[in-house]
Amino acid sequence: MADEGSRYEVTVLGGLGALLILINGLVDFYVAAVGSTYSAPVEFTNDLIGVGLVSVLFAVLLAVFVLLYHGSESSTTRGAWALLITIFAAFSLWTGGGFLVGFLLAFVGGVIGIVLAGSSHETPIWAVPAPVPSSPSGPVPTPGAPAAMAAPNPASSPLPPRLSGIVWYCRRCECDNPTDSRVCRHCGTPLMVND
Ligand SMILES: [Zn+2]
Repeated sequence: MADEGSRYEVTVLGGLGALLILINGLVDFYVAAVGSTYSAPVEFTNDLIGVGLVSVLFAVLLAVFVLLYHGSESSTTRGAWALLITIFAAFSLWTGGGFLVGFLLAFVGGVIGIVLAGSSHETPIWAVPAPVPSSPSGPVPTPGAPAAMAAPNPASSPLPPRLSGIVWYCRRCECDNPTDSRVCRHCGTPLMVND
């Protein structure tokens, strides 16, 4: 599967984001607990507990969506779960967003998931020809130096030293050749030799 690695990224980003949002919620609880011992205003404490609860709820939902995304085999449902990951990551901003980093991780993961689901929609994985080697093996000519070395080009390589005596001149590169040669010693062009 071509997008298996990217699906893994979505899972990791979404999972980390959910974890940070969860920690953010637990920190809210902790601050509320500490605040209550120092006789902080009750409203402050209750608000913080509420925010912490919502944070934990978002984190759990995000984790569930990430798992559903990872377990889904259809690109359409994966796109839907990724969209929910993105939406709930944005919602988590309301409760601190997992120190913002959690929001960013989950949000980016969700967007990647949406893009992946959209792109794999056009080329379904079952339509991709099976074993495509990731790196080209064998004598695949790369444009540039190797091709020029394999077949000497009159424009790029210097002419061999001039011969003395009677020579055949190549029509293509104007290199001189011994009279018994059939092809140009420089560019390989067949010479017009009278038999
Ligand atoms: Zn030649």
